[in-house]
Amino acid sequence: MATDYYGVLGLSRGASDSDIKKAYRRLARDLHPDVNPDPGAKERFQEISRAYQALTDPEKRRIVDLGGDPFDNGAGTAGSPFGGAGFGGLGDIMDAFFGGGGTTRGPRSRVRAGGDALIQLELDLDETVFGTTEDITVDTAVLCDLCTGAGTAPGTHATTCTTCAGRGEVQSVQRSFLGQVVSSRTCPTCAGTGQVIPEPCTRCGGDGRVRARRTIQVKVPAGVEDGMRIRLTGHGEVGPGGGPAGDLYVEIVERAHPVFTRNGEDLHCRVTLPMTAAALGTTLTLETLDGDEEIDIRPGTQSGSVLTLRAKGAPRLRATGRGNLHVHVEVETPTRLDAEQEKLLRELAVLRGEDRPASSSEGQGGLFSKLRDALK
Ligand SMILES: [Zn+2]
Ligand SMILES: [Zn+2]
Repeated sequence: MATDYYGVLGLSRGASDSDIKKAYRRLARDLHPDVNPDPGAKERFQEISRAYQALTDPEKRRIVDLGGDPFDNGAGTAGSPFGGAGFGGLGDIMDAFFGGGGTTRGPRSRVRAGGDALIQLELDLDETVFGTTEDITVDTAVLCDLCTGAGTAPGTHATTCTTCAGRGEVQSVQRSFLGQVVSSRTCPTCAGTGQVIPEPCTRCGGDGRVRARRTIQVKVPAGVEDGMRIRLTGHGEVGPGGGPAGDLYVEIVERAHPVFTRNGEDLHCRVTLPMTAAALGTTLTLETLDGDEEIDIRPGTQSGSVLTLRAKGAPRLRATGRGNLHVHVEVETPTRLDAEQEKLLRELAVLRGEDRPASSSEGQGGLFSKLRDALK
C-alpha cells in the first residue's frame, strides 16, 4: 500500500501548504535526533521528513493524491538514459525471480516514474565553444490534460479489482510430490495495481499520458564537447498513470569546422606559407573564433613549426580559463616556375652554395645523376 503521507503528519487531504509546513515543524521540534534520544524518534523523524518532501513538491504531491507513492519509482528507470521500456521496477524483477511470492508486499502503485529520453543536438564549433541557447523539439509522453493522469473518464473512478480483491496478486495451489505448493503471482486483470479502470479516459485510453510534441529551450554552456550530454531534469517521458517525468538528455554533436579541429579545450589549424615568406618573415591575419588575429611569422620559420595563441581555444567547462589555439605552419615549395623565377632561384642556390644537391651521400654517380640520365 502507498504510505499515507497526510496521516503521517496528522493532516487530512487538501491540507494547505502552510498547514503542511506548520505540522512538519511542530513534529520535527519533538522528534529531531538532536533533541530526542529515543531510538523510535529517529525513525519517526525520517517518516515525517519523507512525508514533508512528498507533500511540498507539487509533482510528488499529485502522485500522492492519485493514490500513488512518489518514492516508489522502481529500479528500471534509475540511471538509465534509455529507460522507459522493459522492467517497470524492482517489483517486476522480484516477480520474475520469485513468482511474486512476497507476503508483505501489497498492490503496487499504478502511478510510476517515466523513462528518460535522449535527443541529439547538432552545433557548430563557435556554439560549443562560446555556448548558446537552442530551441529543441521533442516528442515525448506528457500528462493527459483530460484526466490529469488519473486515466479515468471524467466523472468516473478507478474501482477495486475483483479478480484479486485489490491485493494485486492471485494465489494458485499446485500439487506436487512435495505436497501442496501455494504460489502467488501478479494479478493479470489489474497488472498488480489492485485497481481497474471501468471507463478509461477517452484521450489517453487509461494510461494517464499522451504523446505530444513540445519545444524546449536548452542552455548549452560554453566549452561543451562532442558526445557530452546535458540533462534536463523532468523533461523526459511522463510515467504511466501520470507518474513523474524522467529526464531528457541532450547529446551534443559538434559539426566539423572547415578551419579548426578540436582536441578537448585546444584548437588546431594549419596555415600554408610561401617559401619566401617563411624565409623572410611576415605578418599574416588569421580569422579565429574571436575575430581576426595578427600572427607574426619570424624569418626562417620552418615547415612543421607550431605557433601557439594562448587562451584562444575553448573554455574549460568545469574551471576557469581557456585552452590554446595551435597554428601549424606548412611551407609551400613553389611549383611551375617561369624562366625568370627559375633563374633567380638558381642564382640564390649558387650564392648559398646549394647548387649541387647531388653532392649528398650518394656522391657524383648517385641517385640524382642516375635520375637525370634516365630522364634524358
Ligand atoms: Zn487484480
Ligand atoms: Zn486521460
